[in-house]
Amino acid sequence: MAEFKQSTKLHNVLYDIRGPVLEQAQKMESEGHRILKLNIGNPAPFGFEAPDAILVDMIRHLPHAQGYSDSRGIFSARTAVVQYYQTRGIHTIHVDDVYLGNGVSELITLSLMALLDTGDEVLVPTPDYPLWTASVSLAGGRPVHYLCDEENEWWPDLEDLAAKITPRTKGLVIINPNNPTGAVYPPHIIAGMVDLARKHGLIVFSDEIYEKILYDGTEFTNTAAITGDDVLCMTFSGLSKAYRICGYRSGWLAISGPKAAAADYLEGINLLANMRMCANVPGQHAIQTALGGHQSIEDLILPGGRLREQRDLAYRMLNDIPGVSVNQAKGALYLFPRLDPEIYPIKSDEKFALDLLQQQKILISHGTAFNWIRPDHFRLVTLPSVLDLEEAVGRIGEFLSTYKP
Ligand code: PLP
Repeated sequence: MAEFKQSTKLHNVLYDIRGPVLEQAQKMESEGHRILKLNIGNPAPFGFEAPDAILVDMIRHLPHAQGYSDSRGIFSARTAVVQYYQTRGIHTIHVDDVYLGNGVSELITLSLMALLDTGDEVLVPTPDYPLWTASVSLAGGRPVHYLCDEENEWWPDLEDLAAKITPRTKGLVIINPNNPTGAVYPPHIIAGMVDLARKHGLIVFSDEIYEKILYDGTEFTNTAAITGDDVLCMTFSGLSKAYRICGYRSGWLAISGPKAAAADYLEGINLLANMRMCANVPGQHAIQTALGGHQSIEDLILPGGRLREQRDLAYRMLNDIPGVSVNQAKGALYLFPRLDPEIYPIKSDEKFALDLLQQQKILISHGTAFNWIRPDHFRLVTLPSVLDLEEAVGRIGEFLSTYKP
C-alpha cells in the first residue's frame, strides 16, 4: 500500500489549542462525561447571541448572496470598513485597500504567504495567538518571539523586541487587545513598536479583533493611527468576537501606509485573494449593519454587564488559589494565570491540562500552546456563566490542592 505523509511544509506548524487535549475532551464527551469547557473564545455556545439587526439583515440579503462577490469583497461592506477607520482618525485607507475574508484567520495566513521567502523572519509575541506563529512557519518564514512582560501588565518588552531584529526581519506582529493575556497596550508602547518598525523598514501586522471588548474604561489605540504615511500597516479585525458571530466567518484586512512602495507585495495579496474567489458572501452582508448600528457589546462589558462580571469573578477566584496569580484582563475574553513553579514544578503543561481534564472534567488550554516559553501558565476563557465559572475555578482549586506534577 502506498503510504501518504503530510507535507514537510507542516513540520514546524503547531496549533495546539485544538490539539490532543481537546481530542481527549471530545472522546470523554462521547463517553457521556459532562466537560466544562473553558478553552475556546467562541461566544455562541455560552448563550451569547448576535445582535438582531445583523441576523435580520443577513437573512434579508440571503437571496442576493448566492453568487461569488468581487474577490476583495462587496463594495458596501468595504466602504463601511473605510468609514469606520475614518471615525477612528485614520484617513488613508481606501475602499480598494480593504479585503474581506473568511474570518481574520484566512487573511492572516494569506498576507504572510504573499510576503515571506524561506528563512524570512517575523517578530511574533510570546505568548501569542498561535495562528500567527503557525502561519509564519507555513509560509516558510521563521517566527521569532519577542517577550511580553507579565510584571509590566503583559506589555511588549521593547528592549527584547529591538534585540531580536535582524537583517532578515520582514514584519512585526502586534496582538492588541491581546489573546491570551487580556492586555491592552497604551499609545506609548505601540509608538515604541512602530518606531522600531520605521527604523528597520518592517511591515506591522496589527491584529485588533478584540478592539471593542475593553473593560474598566480602558482606551484602545488603533496601530494605524500611529503608523502614519511611512510604515506599512496591515490591520486585521472582524465580527467574530464583538458581534458574537464566529460561525459566519466575517473579517477584514485594511492596508494603510506607503502602498506605492509595497505595490509588488500587494499584488501578491491580490493574487491569493483572487485564487480563493471571495469570502463567504452572507457574512460580508453583516459588516455594514454591524459597524453602523448600536454597539451592543457595550451592554456586556460595562459594570453589571455579563462579560465584565464573569471576568471579575474568575480573576478573584483564581487569585485566591494558593500558588496561582493572574493579571486582570483589560480587554478580550481570556485570563492567563501563572502557576508558581516552586509550588507546582510542572514539566509538561499539556500533561497538566490532561490531568485536570481527567480528574475534574475541566478543559483549559495550556500556556505553551500559545508559544509561551515556560510550562507555568494556562488560559481560560471568561465566556461561561458565573455559575459555570464558579464551579470550574472552584474545581481547578480543588485539583491543585493535591496536585503532584
Ligand atoms: N486573532 C485573534 C487574536 C484571535 O483570538 C482569533 C480567534 O480566536 C482570531 C484572530 C481569528 O478570528 P476569526 O474568527 O476572525 O478568524
